[in-house]
Amino acid sequence: MGSSDTNLTSAATLGHWIDGQAVGPETGSRRAPVYNPATGEVGREVALAPAAQVDAAVRSAAAAFPGWAATPPLRRARVMFKFKELVERNVDELARCIVAEHGKVYSDALGEITRGLEVVEFACGIPQLLKGEYSEQVGTGVDMYSIRQPLGVCAGITPFNFPVMVPMWMFPIALATGNTFILKPSERDPSASLLMARLLKEAGLPDGVFNVVNGDKEAVDALLTHPQVAAVSFVGSTPIAKYIHETASRHGKRVQALGGAKNHMVVMPDADLDQAVDALIGAAYGSAGERCMAVSIAVAVGDVADRLIERLAERVPRIKVAPGMDKTAEMGPLVTGAHLAKVRGYVDAGVAEGAKLVVDGRDLKVAGAEKGFFLGGCLFDGVKPGMKIYNEEIFGPVLGIVRATGFEEALKLINDHEFGNGCAIFTRDGDAAREFATRVQIGMVGINVPIPVPMAFHSFGGWKASLFGDHHMHGPEGVRFYTRYKAVTQRWPAGIRAGAEFVMPTMK
Ligand code: NAD
Repeated sequence: MGSSDTNLTSAATLGHWIDGQAVGPETGSRRAPVYNPATGEVGREVALAPAAQVDAAVRSAAAAFPGWAATPPLRRARVMFKFKELVERNVDELARCIVAEHGKVYSDALGEITRGLEVVEFACGIPQLLKGEYSEQVGTGVDMYSIRQPLGVCAGITPFNFPVMVPMWMFPIALATGNTFILKPSERDPSASLLMARLLKEAGLPDGVFNVVNGDKEAVDALLTHPQVAAVSFVGSTPIAKYIHETASRHGKRVQALGGAKNHMVVMPDADLDQAVDALIGAAYGSAGERCMAVSIAVAVGDVADRLIERLAERVPRIKVAPGMDKTAEMGPLVTGAHLAKVRGYVDAGVAEGAKLVVDGRDLKVAGAEKGFFLGGCLFDGVKPGMKIYNEEIFGPVLGIVRATGFEEALKLINDHEFGNGCAIFTRDGDAAREFATRVQIGMVGINVPIPVPMAFHSFGGWKASLFGDHHMHGPEGVRFYTRYKAVTQRWPAGIRAGAEFVMPTMK
């Protein structure tokens, strides 16, 4: 292996974190560019780990497992408490890493870190969460209890769009429950993971318990097939989620694989329109639409459509698009030039398919950042099932409006769609809202809440093509995913109850 580098986030080539230390790229290994999306320039490079380097990380994690699993949960929780304090102390550096490589605006990066830290806070309660069940006298003189034990080496493979929060959906709970962990972050914004690894070490985490391997498909495949990896958590696009689920399952691992989304927000005719418009602006264009819970389709029911579109058409062009460190920015650039081209391609396809492009952000130029990967907000009216811009996830600042005649038609649209991550209804009618929440085939539902991301002490996950596997992330489902249930039935032979014996003891 090459030389180690402790100044992780400013290194020209980012390496890995294995066995409690920074590890440089393997000599001759492949590398990928990491862009600064606001300037369009390559900020640094990231090493892509070959299988041998992944193996080194897995061996380190496997060796650290018995000691960490045997560490009292209270002590594991104390490391999490300390880690939370350190993240808070280093929040500016972490947020700057996110802005420099992802592009989202600084305040949004801080928000992402806060949502991740809430999972760390949840993991601090692990002694309470790991309490099992006990039944006395299940037979005469027989008792039963259940315990939950860690799985071993767990792997997390994460997407570019939340480089801090999504890893934090996984590793705080995996570690608090006594597992060791290998994170394979997105190669598009890898710095934050290395910084978190350093902070975990500073918090007192033993070497080998948390490792980061940077890489692409080769590193992922090495994890999916490694005999010493017990479980895989994945968040990313649907085709890859499906591949991860199938491959890791075939290799005998427990898997949760969260995929893409096409989140609809139904606006009923009785909705508070000001509230609905504000909600749509934030939910469709926040983080340039690069959120798995972004609203990308608004379903306007009945006569609300024209009023809704009129208001949106006036607001969307006024969204302040600028580099993420600009204090006035509301929306930053897209993550890479390739992704920008893909999103523009969708807008072109929407026009070609006959949808009406009410707001066209394709020609936006950001003064002083002309080479950045910027796209202005786009708004389509007349979007219909069957169109590419309706069926597929765009993952950019593009909102489509579908017109529906009534509640049943709106509900059917959502239930017929391939994805099932999030959805929302805006209405003043409690009956419609209740009916919607009961019958909609979606994992996370908002009622007058556009982005219903569950809090850390609940669990996050979609249905249909948005999740493969049967456990959602963090909260109680996270604790279940990272532990195995064991039931113990015990009977003890009659003991010494007679008190002191004064005769010489003999076998009875
Ligand atoms: P992606 O699927 O391209 O990449 C995710 C991870 O998989 C990365 O670490 C990447 O290196 C790896 N990967 C990519 N191609 C691979 C391959 N062929 N084989 C093995 N591994 C591979 O996703 P992305 O573009 O980084 O993230 C955006 C996607 O993530 C969107 O579809 C979004 O909806 C989804 N997402 C979903 C959720 C959720 O909770 N459901 C949350 C965030 C993001």
